[in-house]
Order: sequence, then C-alpha cells, then structure tokens
Amino acid sequence: MIPVITIDGPSGSGKGTLARRLAEQLGFHLLDSGALYRLTALAAQKRNIDLEAPEVAAVAQSLNVRFDPDGAAYLDDACVDSVLRTEQTGAMASKIAARPDVRAALLERQRAFATAPGLVADGRDMGTVVFPDAPAKLFLDASAQIRAERRYKQLIENGLSANLAALVEEIQARDDRDRNRAVAPLVPAEDALVVDSTHLSIEAVEARMMEFIRA
Ligand code: C5P
Repeated sequence: MIPVITIDGPSGSGKGTLARRLAEQLGFHLLDSGALYRLTALAAQKRNIDLEAPEVAAVAQSLNVRFDPDGAAYLDDACVDSVLRTEQTGAMASKIAARPDVRAALLERQRAFATAPGLVADGRDMGTVVFPDAPAKLFLDASAQIRAERRYKQLIENGLSANLAALVEEIQARDDRDRNRAVAPLVPAEDALVVDSTHLSIEAVEARMMEFIRA
C-alpha cells in the first residue's frame, strides 16, 4: 500500500506550503488538487463554456495538464501558472467544485498520483473522499483575517496586485461555498489531526505533523 499523507483545510491556511515541505522532506510526490479544479475552470473559460454548463464535467475528464517538478502548471502545453493562482481563478474553481459531476470526473486522476514512494495530497477532501484510508491526515485551519493577510503577502511577493479588505471578503465567500456545499464539504476527516495555525509558524506546524506521521 502506497503511503499517503493528506492535508486539507481552507484557502490560505498554509497547507500548500506545508504539503510542499513535507513532500520534499519525505521524498514523496505532491498532489495540489486545488490546481486541478482551477485548471478545469480555466480550460472551460478558454473554450467559452459556461461554468454551469454540463460540458464542464467533460472538460475535467479530458483535461490536458502537466506539472513541472517545481509545480508550475501547463494547460494544453501553455504555462498558466500566474493566472492559475489568482483569487478570481480560485473563485471560479470553487464554483465548479460544488458540482458532483466535476468532482467525480477528477477523482481517479487524483488517485493516480499515489505512486511509490508515497504522496502528500493537498486539498479540501483528500482525507474524507479521495484517500479515506490514508494513514496520516491533517486538517489545517486559521482565522479568515490571517489567511487573507498571508494570501496578500503571497500575491504581492509574486508581483500581483492585491487589496486586503477585498481578499478577506473573497476568502470568506469561498469558505462559505466550500464548507456548505452538498457534495464533499470542507470538514475534517474523523481521524484527522486538526491544527489551528493562526498563531503558529509553518515550522511549528511542520514539526507537529512530522511527530504525528512518525507516531
Ligand atoms: O486550494 P485552492 O485554493 O487551489 O482550491 C481552489 C478551489 O478548489 C477551492 O476553493 C475549492 O472550492 C476547490 N477544491 C475542492 N477540493 C479540493 C481542492 C480544491 O473543492 N480537493
């Protein structure tokens, strides 16, 4: 059985950074499942398909994507990394992510990432739906304000423009949608370690997770 570590939580909780660091430390593959939802939304937009149209599930099923070893994403062989990470793309992703047909279309693609020597999977439903048998599950949370501040810093560092007040609102709207949707809502798996990172550094969270994995 391939070891899988799942890290779920709301946007900006630090799970992406943590997943990358753990994968590096353990020499495991990395699944950024949010990127698949973002790429599906971008692919639909590129083909002028309405995000509510039934065709979006077929777009998810036939997604032509690849990731560089450094995580940069390519859609139909074009690098889409800068547009992929914007809040606007995140909002589109969360809209299509509420659709059961889109989630079903992406399920096997996500599971296929679990190859030797192991996988760190980052998302919203990694521990509850995609890898329910994973031996180590983490749910990372943090206040909406601190998550918005972290996202703001990240966008500015990447040379993108950002507005903190608007980010708080966007993050809260996305959270509401992710937590209250009928299918695969954002909730911790019953056997997940739940960590609130509001007052914790990423190093402290990482140390706690390594302890949990080794226990
Ligand atoms: O993690 P990220 O911000 O890239 O995810 C974008 C959106 O994709 C989330 O707001 C969520 O609605 C959706 N998503 C999901 N399930 C996942 C990963 C992401 O529903 N496993």
